[in-house]
Amino acid sequence: MKKKMSLKGLWTQDLEKLLSDLGERRYKANQLALWIYDKGVTEFDQMTDLSESLREKLDSIACIDAIKVRKAQTSDIDFSEKLLFELEDGERIETVLMLEKDRITVCVSTQVGCPLGCTFCATGKMGFKRNLTPGEIVDQIIAVKDRRPTHVVLMGMGEPFLNYGNTIKALKIINSELGLSFAAKRITVSTAGIPDGIKKLASLTSKIKLAISLNAPTDDQRNELMPINKKYPLKTLLEAVRYYTDRTKRRVTFEYVLIEDFNDSQKDALELSKLVRGIPCKINLIPYNSVPDVPFEKPSEEKIVAFRDYLFPRCPTVTLRRSKGEDIQAACGQLCTTIKA
Ligand code: SAH
Ligand code: SF4
Repeated sequence: MKKKMSLKGLWTQDLEKLLSDLGERRYKANQLALWIYDKGVTEFDQMTDLSESLREKLDSIACIDAIKVRKAQTSDIDFSEKLLFELEDGERIETVLMLEKDRITVCVSTQVGCPLGCTFCATGKMGFKRNLTPGEIVDQIIAVKDRRPTHVVLMGMGEPFLNYGNTIKALKIINSELGLSFAAKRITVSTAGIPDGIKKLASLTSKIKLAISLNAPTDDQRNELMPINKKYPLKTLLEAVRYYTDRTKRRVTFEYVLIEDFNDSQKDALELSKLVRGIPCKINLIPYNSVPDVPFEKPSEEKIVAFRDYLFPRCPTVTLRRSKGEDIQAACGQLCTTIKA
């Protein structure tokens, strides 16, 4: 039997078209969107403000899929949670919920695995399976709605800009008042540095935040960490970032994973500060989290602090991200669904 079309992931224009094809009024798309995304229902019967005949018509042609939680783990250190989801085709993804003083952030995946193969990242090690649909991206947030997340970051498994169309559809749903209602300033999309995606994002009217995983101050170092740098070296990447900041008048965040004796010296800090000079930005330092079979180490606490303190007066804003959930492999770069069951 052919599977019914899932409505999760459709946006109002698509829902309007569906309704008009059914001979219904288009404005009901707003009600439908609120039920699917805001209330998170999965049965048409629960949509009590739609007529019974419409609910029956919808039920005969469509469904509202929900991804299934296969495993949930909570960190003993900081109470962050990691959820393992199983998708319709049996593929698996992970989503992390991070609890901080003033915010609850849900870290969402955009692909099953990742094709970019960064050498320090567990997701990169597992290879690429497929892109997530818009529905699968937003469903990771709907699944943790009861924890009342305040922020969304697209920093889970995968490279969002290699799944650009689905990511943008999902972002619209996450941002809209008819969807998940997260203000744009509470949503961040992180890229390994796909210039085309950065430039396209600059033309979106919504003020979603952009983070770029820079991770090294020179092409030689970055080539070793991120193979994508051979295709888009720093010059090309930073041209795209400058285009973005000029066009949007918004600041970007550069993420920089600190790796012992690789990119954590004073010279590295100096070169990094020169590299980003003139770009309105914040630098977010992330001490490396261990990944099986990767020969890197996290620098000592003194070296981390020394790097930050050397960088700070040279760059206007520098933050140090303390990763969450390291004991349950939920920290940045540790997400992987092939090593463990
Ligand atoms: N593919 C996108 C988004 C997901 S990765 C990107 O690369 O930006 C999210 C962040 O985790 C990136 O900034 C990446 O540099 C960082 N990261 C990956 N592996 C890590 C590790 N082992 N330790 C610390 N951070 C890591
Ligand atoms: Fe992919 Fe980002 Fe990991 Fe690189 S750091 S392999 S781009 S998920």
